[in-house]
Amino acid sequence: MTKSVYSFGNGTAEGRAELRELLGGKGANLAEMSNLGLPVPPGFTITTEVCTHYYGDSKGYPENLEAEVKAALEAVEQEMGATFGDAKNPLLVSVRSGARVSMPGMMDTVLNLGLNDETVVGLAERSGDARFAYDSYRRFIQMYSDVVLGVEHYNFEEILELHKEDRGIALDTELDPKDLKVLVGEYKTRVQDELGRPFPQDPWVQLWGAIGAVFDSWMIPRAVTYRRLHDIPGDWGTAVNVQAMVFGNMGEDCATGVAFTRNPSTGERLFYGEWLKNAQGEDVVAGIRTPQPINDDNRTPAQRGLSTLEEEMPGPYRELVRIYKRLEKHYRDMQDIEFTIQRGRLWMLQTRSGKRTVQASVRIAVDMARERLITRDEALLRVDANLLERLLHPTLDPEAERDVLAKGLPASPGAATGIMVLTADEAEVRGKAGQKVVLVRMETSPEDIHGMSAAEGILTARGGMTSHAAVVARGIGKCCVVGCGDLRVDRAAGTIQLGDRLLAAGDSITIDGSTGEVIAGFVPTVTPELDPEFGELMRWADRRRRLGVRTNADTPNDAKVAREFGAEGIGLCRTEHMFFESNRILAVREMILASDAGERLAALEKLLPMQRGDFAGIFRAMEGLPVTIRLLDPPLHEFLPQSDDEVAEVARDLGRETAEIRARIEALSEFNPMLGHRGCRLGITFPEIYRMQVRAIAEAACEVVAVGVKVKPEIMIPLVAHVGELERLRALCRDEIRAVQREHGHRFRYAIGTMIEVPRAVLVADSIAQHADFFSFGTNDLTQMTYALSRDDAGKFLAEYIEQGILDDDPFVSIDEAGIGELIRIGVEKGRETRPDLKVGICGEHGGDAKSVAFCSRIGLDYVSCSPYRVPVARLAAAQAAIEAEAGRPGRKQASRKPARKTRSTARRKTENKKRR
Ligand code: ADP
Ligand code: MG
Ligand code: MG
Repeated sequence: MTKSVYSFGNGTAEGRAELRELLGGKGANLAEMSNLGLPVPPGFTITTEVCTHYYGDSKGYPENLEAEVKAALEAVEQEMGATFGDAKNPLLVSVRSGARVSMPGMMDTVLNLGLNDETVVGLAERSGDARFAYDSYRRFIQMYSDVVLGVEHYNFEEILELHKEDRGIALDTELDPKDLKVLVGEYKTRVQDELGRPFPQDPWVQLWGAIGAVFDSWMIPRAVTYRRLHDIPGDWGTAVNVQAMVFGNMGEDCATGVAFTRNPSTGERLFYGEWLKNAQGEDVVAGIRTPQPINDDNRTPAQRGLSTLEEEMPGPYRELVRIYKRLEKHYRDMQDIEFTIQRGRLWMLQTRSGKRTVQASVRIAVDMARERLITRDEALLRVDANLLERLLHPTLDPEAERDVLAKGLPASPGAATGIMVLTADEAEVRGKAGQKVVLVRMETSPEDIHGMSAAEGILTARGGMTSHAAVVARGIGKCCVVGCGDLRVDRAAGTIQLGDRLLAAGDSITIDGSTGEVIAGFVPTVTPELDPEFGELMRWADRRRRLGVRTNADTPNDAKVAREFGAEGIGLCRTEHMFFESNRILAVREMILASDAGERLAALEKLLPMQRGDFAGIFRAMEGLPVTIRLLDPPLHEFLPQSDDEVAEVARDLGRETAEIRARIEALSEFNPMLGHRGCRLGITFPEIYRMQVRAIAEAACEVVAVGVKVKPEIMIPLVAHVGELERLRALCRDEIRAVQREHGHRFRYAIGTMIEVPRAVLVADSIAQHADFFSFGTNDLTQMTYALSRDDAGKFLAEYIEQGILDDDPFVSIDEAGIGELIRIGVEKGRETRPDLKVGICGEHGGDAKSVAFCSRIGLDYVSCSPYRVPVARLAAAQAAIEAEAGRPGRKQASRKPARKTRSTARRKTENKKRR
């Protein structure tokens, strides 16, 4: 016979914290606190296995359950010196649900169970407080009817209000015992009317009713949905806790409260909590009365003048302090605790690891490691790496009101508030004039860059997490919300429809890039100040990780920001972004529209000094760290004008016929641009373009070397699918660099490698590696091409795939390990077969996603590259991956080439070597 009931209380327990799966979180911790000798009202836990049995056996219980419950309740009776259902000296209990992880949607707790028309008299006599007894009975009928019998609480609130009106009183506290008795009668009548049967008087019927209701609540739609959204398996089941009542509402020497052992919002090491005198259960969080601060360290403005628990009940407060310290030491984590004080005596009702903000999680982890409560490795593992990015951007003042108009995808975190502008040009003009603007578009295109960087934030109607707007915004650290389906922009009319509200350009708006909310008007933002603990945690991470972390940066400024966040090089510098600047685009267009090689060369001559200047700026900012520069990648038509006005303007500027320009645009247009004339195909067909770019890189390098700054350019050829492409282009690059070095008389080290972003390239990676010093997996395109999934269109249906559970994650956010991941693994293996020293990294958006970073670490990549604001995310995620690999976490694939188990010192030496390199 399996044991179905575990008792706790009186300094011992049959369960313990480790039995969380069996006892649920609440039950396991009640047992653990009992074992620690803390004052816990006695009770027992019915296991989660009983829940599983209940559903497997068409809602029946295991045979032995009834006897076990009886025996356990008898033990509680003895402990409390009271008897369940006894008319003179009744024992009352609470029935509390408790899954493994706390789950909103589960059954609410029922308090004061065991009261009926007889026992309420006994309770009144023994407590000497009839008001308390009848108020408890009244609350019990309401709670039980609501959560167990399905008679909703408004029924009872209605009765209460009517009664108060009749009696001409305003506050519940003015009700006297006579009133309460009358109310109890009316409540029972209402139950009878609603159900056609009386409110159960037999305490045992009440108890089994409540237990059944907890199990039934496991399958209510609310709970099922919550589990699906949070990946909680349905077969876990919930436990039920039955526990002797202690009363915080028995008079002025009674109280109830909740507390955190450290400040859950800042992480400060201060005991933090709220309490209410003469109150029960959820009164503190219900918001009926303003809860009081437990001590003077955490008084909010609203609590000015309210007395603290420390002042009013110094004895129980001191005890509570002693207990919280003990709990924190024992659990080695910040705890969220619930307590009740009955007639001056403190009782503990719950403890669990407290939820906290990211900021608090960093501070608490570092503090606890310094206090030697946890190790540094544990501290590193305790912070959710993906959330770190939030610390680096301004956020909305949490106190401010939000009038939410619509919601989109939270594409780039932070918050932006400003007036709406509908064109990039206007954003630039107003931005330069010092105005705060939010750029609102149906979607953005590469030409909008100048407006995007001038704006505080970007809002678009279309696009997914890897749309142009999203990628660019993350790159430049701007808040961005995309795919806001309820947004319509009428540029001609200058109006913006958001949900059912019609706004105009120039109106103010606020967007929250962490939630996707679009909010009316200005909302104040707060710029986060980084705690010193953040820097400390990052230093610990750097010592642990073996994966290098670089950044995707296109400008000296991006490069500088990224270095401040700890980037060790640039893994992707996109040269085309330099082409879009307003003073250059004309030369670019001239180059594209050239009718022969001679004209093209003339245009390229103009671009050369501009690119050289950009590269020199980046080399200076990076001071000898590696800089991977990708040669021109996008299809040329992206640079050409679209509207008639723009076409006419370009024609004028270039001194050509409009029709001629139109014809050329026509000639360049493609059915499938992503699979068309782009990437290295441009280099093969227009070698002079790549030659110019390589010359600009090499001349910039010479220029910088000449003034004593070290450089390490790495030239990267995009979209290689065939070894022949790389072979030719590598020769072209090498010849050009040698020529420049000869001309300038300077030497510098350089590397030439390729992006691996076409599935074919993976399959022939061994031969491609003959001509590559490095591989950089372009995981955005690789995902798109391997999955046959357009990243600009997937937004329309991908959410449905995740909703239906076909996919766990958006493959553009987290690397699809089974498919794309396998491809990367094969590519690395084949590449290193040819060249054991081949350096391998990734430069897609995945480089800043914690889960993908861990994957890259496991399969033995050398580095990841990500947008500047995600560099700390990658540093921490890489450290976590290293720690987990060392611990030999099961179920993870081991690194294919490098030994997974490494001593700490070799891991350290490796990172140091890398830094020196
Ligand atoms: P939740 O999971 O919603 O926090 P709980 O089961 O913790 O629900 O119950 C909510 C509150 O009810 C507790 O914080 C406590 O104040 C009160 N409560 C529960 N059981 C008891 C009890 N045996 N004695 C006194 N108060 C109780
Ligand atoms: Mg609770
Ligand atoms: Mg690409």
